[in-house]
Amino acid sequence: MSLNTSLLKQQVFIDGTWLDADSGETIEVVNPATGEKIGSVPMCGRAETARAIAAADAALPGWKALTAEARAGHMHNLCDAIMDQIDDLAVILTTEMGKPLAEAKGEIALGVKYIRFLAEEGRRIYGDTIPSPWADRRILVTKEPVGVAGSITPWNFPNSMIARKLGAALAAGCTMVMKPAEFTPYSALVYGVMAEKSGLPKGVINIITGDAPAIGEEMCENPALRKITFTGSTRVGKLLAGNAGRNMKKISMELGGNAPFIVFDDADLDRAVEGAIASKFRNSGQTCVCANRIYVQAGIYDVFAEKLKTAMAEQLKVGNGLEKGVTQGPLINEAAVKKVAEHVQDALSKGGVLVTGGHPSNGPGTFFEPTLITGASKDMKVAREETFGPLAALFRFETEEEAIELANDTEFGLACYFYTKDLGRSFRMMEALQYGLVGVNEGVITTEVAPFGGFKDSGVGNEGSKYGLDDYLNVKYSCIGGL
Ligand code: ADP
Repeated sequence: MSLNTSLLKQQVFIDGTWLDADSGETIEVVNPATGEKIGSVPMCGRAETARAIAAADAALPGWKALTAEARAGHMHNLCDAIMDQIDDLAVILTTEMGKPLAEAKGEIALGVKYIRFLAEEGRRIYGDTIPSPWADRRILVTKEPVGVAGSITPWNFPNSMIARKLGAALAAGCTMVMKPAEFTPYSALVYGVMAEKSGLPKGVINIITGDAPAIGEEMCENPALRKITFTGSTRVGKLLAGNAGRNMKKISMELGGNAPFIVFDDADLDRAVEGAIASKFRNSGQTCVCANRIYVQAGIYDVFAEKLKTAMAEQLKVGNGLEKGVTQGPLINEAAVKKVAEHVQDALSKGGVLVTGGHPSNGPGTFFEPTLITGASKDMKVAREETFGPLAALFRFETEEEAIELANDTEFGLACYFYTKDLGRSFRMMEALQYGLVGVNEGVITTEVAPFGGFKDSGVGNEGSKYGLDDYLNVKYSCIGGL
């Protein structure tokens, strides 16, 4: 389980060539479990980004002209190359991001599923013929790739966040320029290696690391780039959407969440506890669909809290993700640890009761103990902001109406979850909750076959499923006259 350094690329990938930044400057990459330096990657700016866009633009006509079947073939070859080295890729992912090795492997396998599914969906990009209001004309609707797509992705799923975007873009006939998060560039750069190994034409994917605002600006302003797809914070998403909008680029935005997880008196409690553990503590709480506010109905509040405490003690093991049995890796950096500590302190100062955890673990590495707080209330930070860490805060509620009101009382609308055995209530809740993803008696619902996208400040557009391709396509209407 050592790092395969031949896959640890320290250069960016433009037009099929590995390059340094013009300035020669680099960014250091650190292992969050040990604090040790792994390596560095180029600190690129606008000039290199413009070159990457030009390469993607030059590759576009050839890629677009392939049959959907041929494009799918390339994409499957890319996936085969990834699967051939999934163990090495998982070690790279865990080393730079921290998540347990089994989860890293699961993430890469899911990324491959996205690419394979979308490759096949690309063969079903159907058009339309519309009954014409003119006797001598016919109306044809076809779909075309939007052109060069630029992606900016976060560190919490450094492989699969790219896979979802890459799969849709390539299947639609777009070429790409991808910018991964500065904390986790290696899981992105290996896509370049896999592109080479699988014979993907040069320039179809380009990967650039460096100064995020500069790269973002070039993507938003360069006329050859026609689409920006972003996953990350709502703050940066709004900035990019504004800039992209001014330049009339198509956008997809997967932004922050503040997921409510509601447990009713009539729920299967063991199932709800299992779902809460999975939803709250997966990736040490660092996913945008992680339960952030756990609302528990008064009749079962104490029992649920006790069961959750027991399950946390039994199931959550903190440590280096490369070690066997570890389920909770480190948080990504010191800032993340500070934010969780701040949410805990804030909750305790406003009447919350600490049941377990509550502290950063002693270094090295940026770890935080899985934490349970009861007596949470809506004036606490944890009620308003995404903690993005292993803090489970339990709020008490009395009625269904109250649960709906509390759950919707946020500017976010990505994922929500509820547990009940009542069918009528299930439908009422599904319809009342203002969220793009609803887990009914399930805590983890992501799959490549279903759409993933948020409402309100959680974003625009969808990834995965047949809907995921729409964001990479332009609709063209042709009128054939003189018949
Ligand atoms: P997170 O809180 O998940 O780190 P960010 O939104 O800060 O979310 O980061 C997500 C991605 O956005 C990363 O790749 C980061 O480098 C990039 N990013 C951060 N700031 C900007 C910016 N001003 N313009 C473009 N990309 C940015």
